[in-house]
This record gives sequence, structure tokens and C-alpha cells, in this order.
Amino acid sequence: MKSKNQVIDPDVILIGSGIMSATLGAMLKELNPALSIQLYEMTEEFGKEASNGWHNAGTGHAGLCELSYTPDYGSDGEVDVSKAFEIFHQFEHSKQFWSYAARTGMIDKVEEFINPVPHLSFVYGQKQVDFLKSRFTQMQKHHFFEGMTYTEDREQIREWAPLLLEGRDHTPLALTKMERGTDINYGILSAKLIEWLGQQEGCGYATSHRITNLTKDGAGWKVEVKDLISKQTLTTKAKFVFIGAGGGSLPLLQKSGVRESKGFGGFPIGGQWLICDKPEIVNKHLAKVYGLSPGAAPTMAVPHLDTRIIDGKKSILFGPYAAWTTKFLHVEGKLTDLLGSIRTDNIASLIKVGLHNIPLVRYLIQQGTQSMKTRMKELKAFFPDARGEDWRLIDAGIRVQAIKKEDGDAGIVHFGTEVLTTEDLSLSSLLGASPGASVSTNIILEVIKRCFADSLVTPEGHARMKAMVPSYDEDLTQPEMAARQRELSEEAFKTLNCIR
Ligand SMILES: Cc1cc2nc3c(=O)[nH]c(=O)nc-3n(C[C@H](O)[C@H](O)[C@H](O)COP(=O)(O)OP(=O)(O)OC[C@H]3O[C@@H](n4cnc5c(N)ncnc54)[C@H](O)[C@@H]3O)c2cc1C
Repeated sequence: MKSKNQVIDPDVILIGSGIMSATLGAMLKELNPALSIQLYEMTEEFGKEASNGWHNAGTGHAGLCELSYTPDYGSDGEVDVSKAFEIFHQFEHSKQFWSYAARTGMIDKVEEFINPVPHLSFVYGQKQVDFLKSRFTQMQKHHFFEGMTYTEDREQIREWAPLLLEGRDHTPLALTKMERGTDINYGILSAKLIEWLGQQEGCGYATSHRITNLTKDGAGWKVEVKDLISKQTLTTKAKFVFIGAGGGSLPLLQKSGVRESKGFGGFPIGGQWLICDKPEIVNKHLAKVYGLSPGAAPTMAVPHLDTRIIDGKKSILFGPYAAWTTKFLHVEGKLTDLLGSIRTDNIASLIKVGLHNIPLVRYLIQQGTQSMKTRMKELKAFFPDARGEDWRLIDAGIRVQAIKKEDGDAGIVHFGTEVLTTEDLSLSSLLGASPGASVSTNIILEVIKRCFADSLVTPEGHARMKAMVPSYDEDLTQPEMAARQRELSEEAFKTLNCIR
């Protein structure tokens, strides 16, 4: 168990020690040093759930290589790249905040959580090649994607990612490459930010502490916390509560009874990776290579062949394979989580999700029951010479997709991330799984803009936020902002030691 300065009745309680609570705690304390903040985590360590290095792919999503962000052709007949711009812009905020944290000594040893790894998109077959060429043409027009290169040339591909060509037939291939991609261990980053928070006056943290209930108490909240070692339960109060509990957020929101949570349901999708540690294979690959989604696979199951750097050790990860589960959390979840989340206000949406997404349900069953041979077939589309004995299967994290009844139309359900905030701004939570840890700074900025707007409007608050995220109130997508974007990006990458 980890514990520091347990603060009773603080201004702010953060539930969970993943990247979202860690970022909110650090940003809020920097924005308003007078705030007292207490974080509770039910596992023994920080960042052991979805943010843990092995539970996610560790991609610094910036829209560089993920073909799921550019799935369609637009009305002009060219691939629509608007979503990739949005993700790139949001990732800039994260880079800026992490580099601020490194520059000011909030976090040290940046290489323990971030490393430069080029981001590649990979396609095969003429139809896919035409698609990638159009995507590249559109992206190249914008300053965000300066430096992106495209090739169909096998010699060039051999240089960029030799494993893709080992044992390959003559099908047409194409790749794009962005040198400035990243591999990130979000669990380590979360732990570093929380350790810093615990050293600040009026702030504390405790692991092995589970939040068991939340009840409204005047303008704030009464929070019941169970010490999982001593089995004692304490009651503490806070003016503001952030439920950053990942898959555990929906059950806590339901316990809080807040009106805003009514109608939401959760649908968990597990994940698995194939991992290779063999130095003779690992040392031939330095890239995150993203392909196109196979058939009915949800966008989060788009396959990729990734260099990972975890605890200073390099390996290759392939996946994710989806897996059927009824648990909401990987470490502390229970098989009864899904059943326990069903309420009269969300059962209709849950049934509709099942009925309207038969191909997805079929895909999950197929994925969950597949053999190593079928898994290898998917891997061989990327690395044709891959051999089963060089790879082992591990569990990834669980994504709980948020399911919501859309206003006025009970028939529509919605997958995605929701920042849910109560009308009195005393509680905020995140539901859903995407777009993920990469854009955590942007998501937390949204929480701060909604719930701590007063701290941002003072000249001092504004200056403090500008120091942390210089472009938080600027639109770097505009052509006239190209020089500013380049300068901020260069500075952030330098501090984060990501320029090779
Ligand atoms: C297979 C997979 C691949 C992914 N790949 C990427 C990627 O490449 N790049 C990317 O940016 N994102 C990726 N993501 C998404 C990313 O992992 C998540 O968006 C992010 O980690 C969520 O952070 P969080 O803080 O919200 O949740 P978590 O990290 O899950 O933290 C929530 C914490 O709350 C704790 N908790 C829960 N209930 C309670 C309670 N009652 N009391 C106390 N503590 C509680 C949990 O133990 C946990 O530690 C991926 C996710 C998955 C599943």
C-alpha cells in the first residue's frame, strides 16, 4: 500500500490513479495552489488498470498513422482527414503539458515514460494502396503533417520496416511514415504525476482504498472509503469529486444517483496482445505500424505491429484481439459487473446495442474463441514469416464503451467518450474508452473549463494555464499558426528527449 498525508475533507477528491485523475490532480494544483486534493486508488499501486503499460498499446495517438481516424472518402472524392487533425491538435496539448511537467521538475527521467518511435500506416492490395495515397495527399497539405513520407518502393519499405517484407508475396504495398511518433507508458507517467501531487502542501494519496459510496452533502459530496488492508470504512467530504475510475466509473455514478448518469449503460470489450521478446526479431523493428480494420472489427481493434519500450526493455506487440468479457476492470473487476450495471433506465439501450450490432457481437464471439493459428494468420498479414513459437498471448485492458440513449430517439445508441458533469459542477466523470490516454490533457482541460472556470478567468490563473499548455486557447490548425505550432512542438519534443 502507498499512502501520503491523508487529507480528510479536502476541496477535491480524485477517484482512481490512472492518467485522467493524475493529470487533473497535477493541473489543478498548479492552477490553484491553495486547493487541497486527496486521491484514492483501490489497487496497491498507481496506474495498474487501463493506463498500465501492457494494458494499452502505448501509442501517442496524434492522427499520424491510425487509419481508423480517416476511414472514409469525403464529398470531394478524397479521404476525409478532419478527425486526424483533431487528434493531432489534442495531442499537442498533451506534449506541451508533459514537457512543462518535465521542465519544472514535476516529473523526471522522461525516457521512463516516453520514447521516439516512428508511426507508419501500412496497406496491401491496390484498393488499399489508392486509399492510402489519397490520405497522404490530403494530409500533406497541412502543416501538422509536414515531414510525412509515402512509398510503394520495396527497398524503402525494407529500410523502414523489414519484418513486413520477410516472406511477402508480390501484392502491391504502400506505407506512410512520420518520424516524430511516440511510444508512451501511461502507467509510469500517472505514477510520476501522483508522486509529485503527494509532495504538495494540502495534498495526499492512498492506494488499497476503495470508494464504496457517494452521497450528496449540501454543495459537495460525502464519500465512503474502505481501507482494503484494515477493512475500516471512513467517511470524508469534498466540494468536488472527480470519478476517474475508468471501467469503475459507471457503477460509482450509479451509486451517486446523479440525474446526469441516468440512461447510460456500459458494454465491456476485453483485449489481448501477442508479444515477442526475441532480440533477433525485436531489433529488426522500430515503428508502430497501423493497418486497416478487418471487417466488422470495432475501430479499437484495428491491428498494429508496435515497438514497445517498457521498463527500458524493447519488445514487439501485435493486436489487439478483442475478447468477450463481463468484467468492467481488469485487476479488480468481477464477472457480475455487466449484470450489476443494468438498470431500468439503461436496459432498453443495452438490448438495442446488442440487436443493432449483431456483426460486432459475432466478431467478439469469433475473436474470443479463436485459436493461436487464427491469431497468427492476422499477424502474418503484417509479418508473413512470423512463427507461433516466438510469440506469447497476454491480456490487455478492458474498454467499457459508454452506451447512451440519445435525446428524443430511444433507438439510437452512442459509442464514445463522455465528459459527464453535474449541473451544480460538484462532480465530473468520464465514461467511455476512446480516444484515450494520448488526449488526456485535452479531456482534463474540458473538465477544468467546465468545473473550475473561475480559476481560469483571473489573470494569474490564465497565466498559469498558459505556462502549462501554451496553446490551450489557440487554434493551431489555422495556416497562420504554422510557425507557432512548429515552435511549440519542437520545444516539447526537445524537453521530452524525443528528437533523434
Ligand atoms: C486494449 C487497449 C489499448 C489502448 N491503447 C491505447 C493507446 O495506444 N494510446 C492511448 O492513448 N490510449 C489507449 N488506450 C486507452 C487508455 O488506456 C485509456 O484511455 C486510459 O488509460 C484511461 O485512463 P483512466 O485514468 O480513465 O482509467 P484507468 O487507467 O483504468 O484508471 C482508473 C483507476 O480507477 C481505479 N478505480 C476504479 N474503481 C475504483 C473505486 N471504486 N475506488 C478507487 N479506485 C477505483 C482503478 O483501479 C484504476 O486504477 C487503450 C485501451 C485499451 C483497453
